[in-house]
Amino acid sequence: MALMIINGESVGAASGATMEVRNPATKEVVDSVPKADAADTRRAIEAAAAAFPKWANQPAHQRAAILLKAAAHVREHLEEVAKLLTAEQGKPIRDSHIEADRFAAGIEQYAGLVAGGYIKGEQISLPQYKAMGLVVRRPMGVTGAIIPWNFPLTLFANKLAPALAVGNTVVAKPASSTPLSSIRLAELLHEGGLPAGVLNLVTGPGNVVGEEMIRHPLVRKIGFTGETVTGQQVMASAAKEIKRVTLELGGSDPAIVCDDADVELAAKSIAIGRFFNCGQACLAVKRVFVQEAVAEEFIEKIASRAKRLKVGPGTDTASQMGPMHTEGGRAGIEAQLKDALDRGGKVVAGGGRPQGEGFDQGWYMDPTVVVDVPEGARVWQEETFGPLLPVMVVKDLEEALRRANDTEYGLGSSIFTKDFGKAQRAIDEIQAGYTWVNSIQVAYDELPFGGWKHSGYGKEHGTDVLNYYTEEKSVILSGV
Ligand code: NDP
Repeated sequence: MALMIINGESVGAASGATMEVRNPATKEVVDSVPKADAADTRRAIEAAAAAFPKWANQPAHQRAAILLKAAAHVREHLEEVAKLLTAEQGKPIRDSHIEADRFAAGIEQYAGLVAGGYIKGEQISLPQYKAMGLVVRRPMGVTGAIIPWNFPLTLFANKLAPALAVGNTVVAKPASSTPLSSIRLAELLHEGGLPAGVLNLVTGPGNVVGEEMIRHPLVRKIGFTGETVTGQQVMASAAKEIKRVTLELGGSDPAIVCDDADVELAAKSIAIGRFFNCGQACLAVKRVFVQEAVAEEFIEKIASRAKRLKVGPGTDTASQMGPMHTEGGRAGIEAQLKDALDRGGKVVAGGGRPQGEGFDQGWYMDPTVVVDVPEGARVWQEETFGPLLPVMVVKDLEEALRRANDTEYGLGSSIFTKDFGKAQRAIDEIQAGYTWVNSIQVAYDELPFGGWKHSGYGKEHGTDVLNYYTEEKSVILSGV
């Protein structure tokens, strides 16, 4: 059984309770983990609080050196971590490798930033008061990281790396269905020299462990990634302690294909943007608006790409798309598809479950493209968190932009055009945290990332994230 890490030690829940982790490709039990309760969580928080002063007060370059050494040790075990991730999450092994690598790279990136003295403040001259104003940034204390199951490792690193680099300590809670690869990473970081208490990892139900992290007064900030409805609960619970929160929530990203677009590029990019991670990505093309002149060509190309995708178990190196993560997730997407078809939509690719040996053992679904789905259908209103892509033909850019913004979400967006004027309008008018022009949907570590509207609050990535893991203080130096 894999164990939690509290104060540098591998431990079970005090109650002895456990929970199983299952493989989405086979439904078999991969392993068990402790099912922690509020008291276990408090022990982790107290360990993180005790470790904070020493971790925060050492020079940044020393913290960075410890983090870089720990990340180097992680790098020696990427293969093992990737295998665990595929077993518990279902994604193709190649994608798990990328994700494990991104975890190490995230630690390295923020260690590098602070080693170079990046935690910058400001100086403001106040000669009229015979004084000098300074604005300094200080670490916050214990920070909480609550992580979903779709990209368990990159989303862990997005919180852990900036938090630790600036001097905070961390209590992390992985999703209950994907704790194993995160546990192994936490073990590896400790084997690589991370001091006890600096990172604590607790496994258990979100509404118990997560809730305790949010309510506990010693936890100063919560970095949360997950569904919008859970994010609303997190924000409401955090309000009682005036707790800082960063919320990275759901999305329903539009992609606009203009009549002057490189249609081949658009189809290729949108196929990746929709079907990567079996469509279970926050940043993913979830609605396409294509102009009439290129609609037929685009639909033919995207359908053909969807049909060509190789679906199979993540352990098969030829698989491009694994199973969905849960039975409930697949049922949800199938219900959204049924609603679209009941309203007159037509399937141009997929539409069912793949047939053949082994497919009935996992939560597989065909990469699916639907057209002629009228407005009002669930796929236009809700987040579609699986391999289902609705395509709507629109008259002009005006209509595309209006429909793109007709959603409660505002995470990502993209436009395919050769006309910079059209791209400029998308950049200026789409209400979302990211706009890609003629490009696939990839979040760059170097740029801030975060949603507008119901897609969240605050930023991860880039240097902006450091502002969300520090408190600002104004200082006056006055001549006597
Ligand atoms: P959930 O909101 O169900 O869970 C996310 C995490 O929150 C899990 O660790 C979960 O624990 C925990 N949790 C659940 N209930 C509570 C609670 N009451 N208090 C505190 N923590 C709680 O999301 P999913 O795991 O289903 O992830 C998919 C969602 O995440 C999608 O909507 C997706 O768009 C979004 N997402 C957003 C990203 C972004 O950057 N904007 C990136 C990736 C995903 P447990 O597993 O034990 O229930």
